[in-house]
Amino acid sequence: MITFYPGPSKVYPQVADYAVDAVRQGIVSLNHRSAGFMDIVKETIRLLHEKLAIPADYHIAFVSSATECWEIVAQSLTETASLHPHSGAFGKKWAEYAYRIKPPTSLSEADVLCIVQNETSNGTQVTMETLGQFRRDFTGLIAVDAVSSMAGIGLDWSLADVWFASVQKCFGLPAGLAVLVYSPAALKRAEAIGENSHYNSLLFIHENFSKFQTPYTPNGLGIYLLMRVLQQVPPVAEVASVIKQRAANWYAFFENELARSPFRVLNQEPSVRSDTVIAVEGTESDIKAIKTAALQAGIMLGNGYGDWKTTTFRIANFPAISDADVQTLKDFLLNYCKSDSLPAQ
Ligand SMILES: *Cc1c(COP(=O)(O)O)cnc(C)c1O
Repeated sequence: MITFYPGPSKVYPQVADYAVDAVRQGIVSLNHRSAGFMDIVKETIRLLHEKLAIPADYHIAFVSSATECWEIVAQSLTETASLHPHSGAFGKKWAEYAYRIKPPTSLSEADVLCIVQNETSNGTQVTMETLGQFRRDFTGLIAVDAVSSMAGIGLDWSLADVWFASVQKCFGLPAGLAVLVYSPAALKRAEAIGENSHYNSLLFIHENFSKFQTPYTPNGLGIYLLMRVLQQVPPVAEVASVIKQRAANWYAFFENELARSPFRVLNQEPSVRSDTVIAVEGTESDIKAIKTAALQAGIMLGNGYGDWKTTTFRIANFPAISDADVQTLKDFLLNYCKSDSLPAQ
């Protein structure tokens, strides 16, 4: 089975060997305050700075999930209210989680702007140009959910104060770990707010990570696997150029080869189309039929999500997916759309 599910998604095949190493070498049994474990945390953070070109003065911490990051932004970095302009299901969920922690009493005094850079639910993205416009217009902190784009595309880190991603998308790893990146300004803000009442309060996380430790027993296996994958992958600029080219090829494929098929790209506006998640629209019955046929051919397409649950399928365009996988899916789609396996209209 090859999978194009946009999270959990295909893991790098090498992860199997790395996991064996982690167990055989006793890494998963290391005390998380031991020197050996702290070295792994330190090296993983160094590699993130290096491979993802994260500015040296931006801090990095590991938490459990992107959802946890949503809550950390609300509890530790939001004083009055956060703003959540959004276009899809993840942006909406973030707003709901945040408002449960910080009910939006006075949005006109909002001090945090929360942006989902890549909306996994509908395959749209916020470009760095748009983010730059937000940066110029908004004086508070900017927090960016880059869950399905970090490690897949180039990000201009300076355009926001908080960035986060869980690793089961573009990092090509199993779920259960998230990377939280925060600027000196974000840390200063956390200090000014002084929120310290949670195990995952940003100040407490920061204090622990400045010693390469964590507030609680961390996902040591996940951190080790992240370190090994980062050692293996090229710098993000190289990854991004492959991903961008592949995305352009996918969009051209649907607009040309599959122009007369029952399927079309969900977003008609090319400038907002995601590089890492391709959302494809069709009728409910066509979507259902193609997903079933794909499964029979050993290919897992991503289901639709949220409002687009039954009228789209999604194709992950993540770095761990190989050219051969992509070709297999293209061949399947071409074959399917020209064969009489299409349901009668
Ligand atoms: C997958 C996803 C999340 C949720 O990540 P978890 O690790 O499950 O918390 C949040 N935001 C976006 C944009 C996602 O794609």
